[in-house]
Amino acid sequence: MIIKNVRVLGGEPVDIRVEDGLIAEIGPGLTGGAGDEVVDGGGAIALPGLVDLHTHLREPGREDAETVLTGTQAAARGGYTAVHAMANTSPVADTAGVVEQVWRLGREHGHCDVQPVGAVTVGLEGRQLAELGAMADSAAQVRVFSDDGKCVGDAVLMRRALEYVKAFDGVVAQHAQEPRLTEGAQMNEGVVSGRLGLTGWPAVAEEAVIARDCLLAAHVGSRLHVCHVSTAGSVEIIRWAKSKGWNVTAEVTPHHLLLTDDLVEDSPVGAYNPIYKVNPPLRTRADVEALRAALADGTIDVVATDHAPHPVEDKETEWSAAAMGMIGLETALSVVQEAMVDTGLLDWAGVADRMSAAPARIGRLPGHGRPLAAGAPANITLYDPSARTPVDPAAYASKSRNTPYEGMTLPGRVVATFLRGTPTVLEGKLT
Ligand SMILES: [Zn+2]
Repeated sequence: MIIKNVRVLGGEPVDIRVEDGLIAEIGPGLTGGAGDEVVDGGGAIALPGLVDLHTHLREPGREDAETVLTGTQAAARGGYTAVHAMANTSPVADTAGVVEQVWRLGREHGHCDVQPVGAVTVGLEGRQLAELGAMADSAAQVRVFSDDGKCVGDAVLMRRALEYVKAFDGVVAQHAQEPRLTEGAQMNEGVVSGRLGLTGWPAVAEEAVIARDCLLAAHVGSRLHVCHVSTAGSVEIIRWAKSKGWNVTAEVTPHHLLLTDDLVEDSPVGAYNPIYKVNPPLRTRADVEALRAALADGTIDVVATDHAPHPVEDKETEWSAAAMGMIGLETALSVVQEAMVDTGLLDWAGVADRMSAAPARIGRLPGHGRPLAAGAPANITLYDPSARTPVDPAAYASKSRNTPYEGMTLPGRVVATFLRGTPTVLEGKLT
C-alpha cells in the first residue's frame, strides 16, 4: 500500500509505502508495484498512531456504557492505535483471569490494541494488594497498575505496590485524591463553588497525595505515574520531583487543558449541567494556563483522555446525583490542537511525543509510539488541522454521549488511522 501526499509531523509532502504491516519507505514521489493499494492523504499531517494511557472501556460489567468494540471504534476514530483499559470494571481487573479476559476481548473485537491496566488493590478497596505479579506474568503482560477512580490512600500499601512493580518494570498510576478532603465534593473549591453553594473539591486534596507519592517513589526507587493532573500546585510538585531526578511521570486530560470551572455556572448548555461534572473537577483559568505550560515544557509528559463513558440516565440528572466523567477519545486531538498547537505552545512533533511516544514508553508498549520511519510498525494517524467540525455527539462511535464539547466547534479532523498497515478509519469513517 502507498499513502500519497502526507506531511510527517507537519513537514514537506511525502509518500509512505507500507509492506507487511511495517513502514517500508518514506519519501517524495514513491511508486509502488502494480497490485499496490493507493490511499490519497490529501496533504494531511501524519502522526505516529496515538496511544492512550487512560481509557475506561467499561467491559466487563457496564456494557450499557461502553464495550471493548465501541470504545476501540471511538479510539480509532480519534486516531488511536492503542489504549490502556482501566481496571475499574465489574468484576475489577485485579486478577490474571480478568486482565486476560479484557486482553482477549481486545484481540477479538478491538479496532486498536487494548492493553489492560491491573488494579493495585483487591476490588479497588485499598486494603490488600492485588496479584500484581500474576497479572504481569499473564498473557496480558500488565505493566501499568492503577486503582483509578479511587486513590490508593494507604501509604504503606502504596509503598509496597511501588516496591513490588520494580520486579517487572511496572509503574503505579495514581488517581491522586485525598478521600477525607473530598467527602461529598461536587466541583473545584473556589469562587464559583462558593457562589453556587456546591461542596468544594480543594486543590490540596490532589496535591498532598502527589507530594507523598513522589517522596515514596523516590524512597523506594520506583516508577510513579500521576493520572490526570489538574492544578497549578500539582505541576509545581511534579516539576520539583523531576528536578531531583526521580522517576515520576504525569498526564493531563484534554478537558483540563481547555475547560474551566465557571462552565458549571454558565455554559452553552446551561447552568448546573452535569456534563461538566468530572473527577478531578474542572479548575480555574490559572490552572489551565499552568497545565498548558507544563505540557509544553515536558513537566507533564502525556495527554491521556480519561475517556469515561456513562449512559444518559447516569448523566442527565440533577448535578449532585450525576456520575463523574466525560468521553474524550474522539475529540482529544482536536482539543489538543485548540489548546496547544493553535496557541503556539506545541508543534506537531510535540503532539506526537505527548500523545504517542511518551505514553507508549511509560506503558511499555514497544510496538507503538515509534517515529514514522522505515522499519517501524505502520501505526499511522492522518489528521487535517484545517477542518472545523461542530461537535455532534450523535455521530460518535462511543456508546455514550457525555461529551462536554456539545455546542462548540472544534478544529481538525482525523482523516485516517492505520493499525500495523491496516486501515481502521478511512475518510473519517470506520472501515
Ligand atoms: Zn481517575
